[in-house]
Amino acid sequence: MSDYVKPALVDLVRTIPDYPKPGIQFRDITTLIADPVGLRTAVDGLLWPYLREPVDIVVGIEARGFILGGAVAHELGRGFVPIRKKGKLPGKTIGQDYTLEYGVDTIEIHADAIQPGQRVLVIDDLIATGGTADAAIELLKRSGADIVGAAFVIDLPALGGSQKLRDKGLVVHSLMCFEGD
Ligand code: AMP
Repeated sequence: MSDYVKPALVDLVRTIPDYPKPGIQFRDITTLIADPVGLRTAVDGLLWPYLREPVDIVVGIEARGFILGGAVAHELGRGFVPIRKKGKLPGKTIGQDYTLEYGVDTIEIHADAIQPGQRVLVIDDLIATGGTADAAIELLKRSGADIVGAAFVIDLPALGGSQKLRDKGLVVHSLMCFEGD
């Protein structure tokens, strides 16, 4: 163990070219979260800006946002609320449509998951165009949430999503950036 060198978080992300379609560089975090140091470093990195901020509840976006958001909620000593793809949540939901490259998708939250005025931290693995996170934020606003921030392991700044959220007045942070899409 004495010669152990802590891996750089960025080196634990696996890039898979042309997935799910030609031209996309898929940034795969399964390799990062499979590494015990990687998982802990990522979770710590996501939550430290919020150790001094009042966060009432953590929201994670399906599916990788559940893994990271659940760990962040646990560490902050707060509860966790999932935002899921349409039709997956069993109770009464509210939904928000958002535009994909081809077509439209919908995400949902339980209608009673957030109490008006609750201070919410939003977690996902990656922000690209920001379509998913933006729809999540609209859902949370409609639920009466006060959004204290949105945190991502990876930002693809060329796709403009994090800037789009900042332009709406949100605090956004990420642990690493990759150039291009
Ligand atoms: P967007 O709505 O464009 O910001 O896309 C964000 C969502 O799509 C996240 O939940 C990511 O998991 C996934 N995603 C988009 N682009 C990539 C990519 N290049 N590599 C891995 N996941 C991606």
